Amino acid sequence: MSAAKPPRTVEEHRAVVAALLPPTGVEVVPLAEARGRVLAEPVTAAISLPPFDNSAMDGYAVRAADVAGATADSPVTLPVAADIPAGRTDVPPLEPGTAARIMTGAPVPAGADAIVQVELTDGGTERVAISAAPAAGTHVRTVGEDVFEGTAVLDAGTVLGAAQIGVAAAVGRATLPVRRRPHVLVLSTGSELVAPGEPLAPGQIYESNGAMLAAAVRDAGGTADQLRFVPDDVEQFRKVLAERIVAGVDLVVTSGGVSAGAYEVVKDALTGHGVEFVKVGMQPGGPQGAGVVEFGEVSCPVVTLPGNPVSSQVSFEVFVRPVLRRAMGHPYPDRPVVTARSREALRSPAGRTQFRRGTLDARDGTVGEVGSPASHMLAALARADCLFVVPAEATGVHPGDELEVWLLDSAL
Ligand code: AMP
Ligand code: MG
Repeated sequence: MSAAKPPRTVEEHRAVVAALLPPTGVEVVPLAEARGRVLAEPVTAAISLPPFDNSAMDGYAVRAADVAGATADSPVTLPVAADIPAGRTDVPPLEPGTAARIMTGAPVPAGADAIVQVELTDGGTERVAISAAPAAGTHVRTVGEDVFEGTAVLDAGTVLGAAQIGVAAAVGRATLPVRRRPHVLVLSTGSELVAPGEPLAPGQIYESNGAMLAAAVRDAGGTADQLRFVPDDVEQFRKVLAERIVAGVDLVVTSGGVSAGAYEVVKDALTGHGVEFVKVGMQPGGPQGAGVVEFGEVSCPVVTLPGNPVSSQVSFEVFVRPVLRRAMGHPYPDRPVVTARSREALRSPAGRTQFRRGTLDARDGTVGEVGSPASHMLAALARADCLFVVPAEATGVHPGDELEVWLLDSAL
C-alpha cells in the first residue's frame, strides 16, 4: 500500500506557478499610459536639465561687479536694458552697467552672472534701484545642474510613478518602452452562480470570484477578461476555454471546481491536458492546480484556484500576483512584508501554512485577526488590510508572538 503523497509546500507551488509565465514583451506607450509600468530600457537624457542657464527668481539680471557695495541705505541704480519673460528666445547680451528685468525660468542673458530678486529692488522698468550686492552665481540655475545631456535619468527596471514620468517628460520623451501588461482570462465555474444584479433563486449565490479576481489582476498590473461558465459540463468547458485561448491570453485563472467532490468541472476537464492538481499545505487554499493546458495545437498557462471566495483571493495573492508582476518586470513582485506582534492567542492546524486576514496597527507594531480563518468569510477579508502568516509547524500563536505580515493596501 502506498502512503498518501505529502502536500506540496507553499514555496514549492509558488515555484511551479512562477515557471509558467515568461516575461512579457516590450511595447512603447505614451506617457499618459506609462504610470505603474516597468521601464524596459534606460532613458538617456537627449538634453541637459536645465537646458540653459536660467533665473531662479523674478528680478533683475546683473553683473555682480556692477552692484558690488549696493545696500538698502546706498542702492545702486542701473538702466533697465531689456525685459526677459520666461519663454523669450531672442535674449540680447547684457551690456556692462545695465540690468535686465527677468522672470523665473527665463534665460539669463550672456554677460550677466547674478540675479537680484525683485524684493531687493524698487521694481523699476526704466531704471532700477538695487539695494543688495549678490555674489556671482546668485539665483542662477546653471545648465546641466540637474542632469547632463547623454546621461541616464531612469534605469531599466524602474517602476514608473509620477516623478519618473515627470523627468522623462522634462528630457523630452513623449513615449517610453515598457513591458506589456499580461492579459489574463478569469474564469468562474459553478452551476449555482448568478451574476450580481440578477434575481437569485433558492440555492443560488452571487458570483463574486470573477469580479474580485479580475480586479486583483488589474491591481497587479495586468489586463483581465471575465468569463462565467455556468454549467458544470466538461466538454463545453474545454470548448469554451480553447476558443478563448486562441483569441490571445497570457494566463488563464479559474476558480472553483478543483476540490474532491463530484462535478469538479475544472479538474475533470483539465486533468490529462497538461494541468496538475495537487494539495498544498496551506489554509485557506489547499486544492490547487497549475500547468500549461494543451488542446491539440492550442496551449496556455493555467492556474486553477479553489472556489471559496477567500481561498480564491488568498491563493491569488500567494501564487498569481507575484508572477504577473514579475512578468511585467517589476523589481518587487511580492507584497511588502513586515513583522508584527500578535494581539491575541490563536490556534492553528499543524502542517498547514495559514494566511489569516488581519489588521495591522503600524503605531505599536501589532496585528490582530479579522473574522475567522474560515474560507467563506468574504466580508472579513474586505475589512482586512493585511494577511499574516502562521507557519506550517505552529499549532498556535501566543499574544506577543512575532508574525510575518503581508501588507495588502500598499501601492508599492
Ligand atoms: P467549488 O470549489 O467549486 O467546490 O466551490 C467551493 C465553494 O465556493 C462553494 O460554496 C461555491 O459555491 C463557492 N464558489 C465557487 N465559485 C464561486 C464564485 N465564482 N463566486 C462565489 N462563490 C463561489
Ligand atoms: Mg463548484
